[in-house]
Amino acid sequence: MSRHDYDLLIIGGGSGGVRAARIAAGYGASVGIAEEYRFGGTCVIRGCVPKKLFVYASQFRDHFADAAGFGWRVGETAFDWPTLRDNKDCEIARLEGLYRRNLERAGVELFDTRAVLEDRHTVRLLSRAASVTAKTILIATGGIPYVDNSVPGIEHTITSNEVFHMDRFPERVIVAGGGYIAVEFAGIFAGLGTETTLLYRGEEILRGFDDDLRTGLHAEYEKKGIRVICNNVFRTIEKTEGGLLGTITDGSKIPADQILFAIGRRPFTEGLGLETAGVATNDGGAIEVDTYSRTNVENIYAVGDVTDRINLTPVAIREGHAFADTVFGAKPTSVDHDNVATAVFSSPEIGTVGLGEAEARSRFEEIDIYRSRFRPMKHTLGGRDEQMLMKLVVDGRSDRVLGCHIIGPDAGEMAQLLGIAVKMGATKADFDATIAVHPTAAEEFVTMREKVAES
Ligand SMILES: Cc1cc2nc3c(=O)[nH]c(=O)nc-3n(C[C@H](O)[C@H](O)[C@H](O)COP(=O)(O)OP(=O)(O)OC[C@H]3O[C@@H](n4cnc5c(N)ncnc54)[C@H](O)[C@@H]3O)c2cc1C
Repeated sequence: MSRHDYDLLIIGGGSGGVRAARIAAGYGASVGIAEEYRFGGTCVIRGCVPKKLFVYASQFRDHFADAAGFGWRVGETAFDWPTLRDNKDCEIARLEGLYRRNLERAGVELFDTRAVLEDRHTVRLLSRAASVTAKTILIATGGIPYVDNSVPGIEHTITSNEVFHMDRFPERVIVAGGGYIAVEFAGIFAGLGTETTLLYRGEEILRGFDDDLRTGLHAEYEKKGIRVICNNVFRTIEKTEGGLLGTITDGSKIPADQILFAIGRRPFTEGLGLETAGVATNDGGAIEVDTYSRTNVENIYAVGDVTDRINLTPVAIREGHAFADTVFGAKPTSVDHDNVATAVFSSPEIGTVGLGEAEARSRFEEIDIYRSRFRPMKHTLGGRDEQMLMKLVVDGRSDRVLGCHIIGPDAGEMAQLLGIAVKMGATKADFDATIAVHPTAAEEFVTMREKVAES
C-alpha cells in the first residue's frame, strides 16, 4: 500500500490539470485535484471559450451590413449586452458541469479549494483546513493578467478577468496592449458598436507574428474605425464625471467609459509554497521544468502556463497528457513545441503556423516568399473593403515550407490543417502537387507560383 493519501495530487483544475487527472486516473492512479475558482480553468471560464462566443457576437454587425449586397433587407438591428453576457454564462456553467462530471466519472476526487504546498509530498487544502499527501504532485496553476501598478489610476481599469462580466457595455473603450488578447478584444468591442482605441507601447501590434500579419491587421483595424496608437502607454488614468480620461505618453487625452488592460500574463505562483517545497523558478517567475515537465524536485511536475513555454490551451493539454503517460503509463513522452499552429480571433481573423519571414531569414540562408492579397469572394457582392492575405515562407535550399500565414475569414481553421503539412515537413512542391478545392480562399495556398521575394 502507498504510504501517501494519493498517487497524484494536482493543483489547478484548468486545461493542463484536468487532462493530466483524467489520463492518470485511467492508468489506475488514485488522483485528487484542487481548484480554487471554477473547474475548466482560464480557457473555459474566462479565456478561449467565452471570448470566441463574443467574437461570434461581434461578427453579426458585418454580416448584417453585407447582407444587402446579397438581396437581404435586414432592417433595424440593436445589440443587447445583458443577453449576450448571460447566455454566455449559461453555456460556461454547462461546460463547467461537464468538466466536473468527466473528472468524477474517471474516479478523480475533486477539491473546491485553494491548495498550497507544505513540503514536497504534502498539500494544504485551505478551505478544508486539512492536508493531504501524494507520491507525485502536479502544479497546473496557470497564469494571471499582468497589471501595471505604476500607472496612476490603474484601479479604474479592468483586465480580461472582469471583461466577461461587465455590468454595463461601454460606448467608448481603450484597450491597452498589443498581444493577441488585446487585439481580439479591440475587435470584439468595435464589432459590438463601441468606439475603440487600441493603445500599444511597441512599434507595431502582435509582436512575434510575421510582419505582414502585423501590418496587415493594423491596416484592416483602421479601416474598421479602430484607432490604433503605437509607441504610447498610459501616463495617468483619471475618473471624471463623464467616465474615464486616459493621458498617454504623447500628451493626448482619450476619454473612455471602460479601459481594458491586456498587457500580458504571468505565471501564477504567488503564495503557492514553492520555496518550502524547494521548487525552482526562472527570472520571469515561471516554474522551470525539463522536457518531461519535471521540476528540480524529483516528484513534483508542472504543466501549462505556469511553466511559460507556449501559453495556449492545446499546449497545456498536451503537456498534461504527456506527463500522465510518462509517470503513470510507463510511456515516457516529451512534448514537441515546434510548429504549433495558432489563431488570433481578430476580425478579420489570423491563422499562422511556423516561422515568420524575419525569423526564417535569420535562421536560413535562402528564403523564398510567396504572397497573395485579394478580396475574398464573399466581399465582392457584400461590398466590404477587406483584403485577405496568404503567405508562404519556404526554405530555398530544401524547398521545405517553414511558415504559413493568413489574414481573412476562417484563417484559424486553415492554420489547423496547414499545421499538419508543416509538421510533416511538406515542401513547396508538395503544396503545388495538391489540386485545389474550388472555389475557396484556401486554394490560394496550392496555386501560388510566383516568388515575391528571395534571398
Ligand atoms: C482572454 C483569454 C483568451 C484566451 N484565448 C485562447 C485561445 O483562443 N486559444 C488558446 O489556445 N488559448 C487561449 N488562452 C490561453 C489559455 O486559456 C491558457 O493557455 C490555458 O488555459 C492554460 O491552461 P493551464 O492548465 O496552464 O492553466 P489554467 O487554465 O489557467 O488553469 C489554472 C487553474 O488553476 C487554478 N489555481 C491557481 N492556483 C491555484 C491554487 N493554489 N489552488 C487551487 N487552484 C488554483 C486557477 O483557478 C485555474 O482554474 C486565452 C487566455 C485568455 C486569458
